[in-house]
Amino acid sequence: MKLGIVGLPNVGKSTLFNAITNAGAQSANYPFCTIEPNVGVVAVPDKRLDKLAEMYHPEKYTPATIEFVDIAGLVRGASKGEGLGNKFLANIREVDAIVHVVRCFVNDDIVHVEGGIDPARDIETINLELILSDIEVLDRRIDKARKMVKADKKFQDEVDFFTRVHEALDAGRPARSMECTGEEAALLASVSLLTNKPVIYAANMSDSDFSGGLDGNEYYQAVKKIAEGEHAAVLPICAEVEAEIAGMDYEEKQLFLSDMGLSESGLDRLISACYSLLGLISYLTAGQPEVRAWTITRGTKAPQAAGKIHTDFERGFIRAEVIAYDDLIACGSMAAAKEKGLVRSEGKEYVMQDGDVVLFRFNV
Ligand code: GDP
Repeated sequence: MKLGIVGLPNVGKSTLFNAITNAGAQSANYPFCTIEPNVGVVAVPDKRLDKLAEMYHPEKYTPATIEFVDIAGLVRGASKGEGLGNKFLANIREVDAIVHVVRCFVNDDIVHVEGGIDPARDIETINLELILSDIEVLDRRIDKARKMVKADKKFQDEVDFFTRVHEALDAGRPARSMECTGEEAALLASVSLLTNKPVIYAANMSDSDFSGGLDGNEYYQAVKKIAEGEHAAVLPICAEVEAEIAGMDYEEKQLFLSDMGLSESGLDRLISACYSLLGLISYLTAGQPEVRAWTITRGTKAPQAAGKIHTDFERGFIRAEVIAYDDLIACGSMAAAKEKGLVRSEGKEYVMQDGDVVLFRFNV
């Protein structure tokens, strides 16, 4: 899974991105890699994996990972090719979801490219660039659908629907804010619009504002209101604190967080927010060689989940031996769980659940 970090200049994107890459590099337990300078890979924190590792003492411990891409340089005029506009828009097209960093911290020493602090205006500026790019794509699609109507009347529905989307975009509303039937949502997904991608607005706050509570913070509230109006998520974050703690070892970090009255780092909260926004869950595989988490979309059936491990697993799928994580831990071992009849044999139609510990049986 790939997330793109966007936002105006000087809002804290690089600070957050550096925290992400440092967190990857510093935690010895987690594999990390930096593929390109603007790509950082972090482990998805999962306490269940730690417990399974205690049970199996595996040679290898592999958490699920998320890739963050720093898409810097999106400025007013990007859709018209200002700066490196089109390249950035192309980068955004490739991600599964967008983390839109919004400046909510006041610091007169750090220039704001648009003037003073105004989260709503900043969000609108970025969204407008994405909307303008989408309008071009949509115009082409509507033209195509109109031509098809001549041959087949059923394409009129498509023209009507896309015209409605166009009107929303014209009014400055992202495509994801539209109320759609299942059929319409599928149609919308077929156009790959930038403003239809899931978004998390990361409200980047100063640490004192962050600790001071969110209810009375007008900047955070402004971001939250926008998020709620367009089916997006909002996450308060303090990028500077994240950058500070990213390099700490585990104990030091926990101490620092508890001093701030927090149980989780902002980065961990960001990862959880992505999971819930994208409807993702993890299933687990456990054995002596490796304990590992695999990311799938909620609703995925067993053969497709097996396909995440290897395409052969999906093609030759016979059945899945499944136990819920809690049941396995309660029994203390797989052997004890089997004795109690808690390991189920599931077929092709089984819908995977979060925390399923699985062994796939397949033909090669
Ligand atoms: P980018 O242009 O969006 O990548 O912004 P940077 O990450 O380079 O941040 C711009 C400036 O704002 C830097 O001097 C940061 O130290 C500062 N900054 C970033 N996040 C915070 C924050 O949470 N609080 C405060 N006070 N300053 C921040």
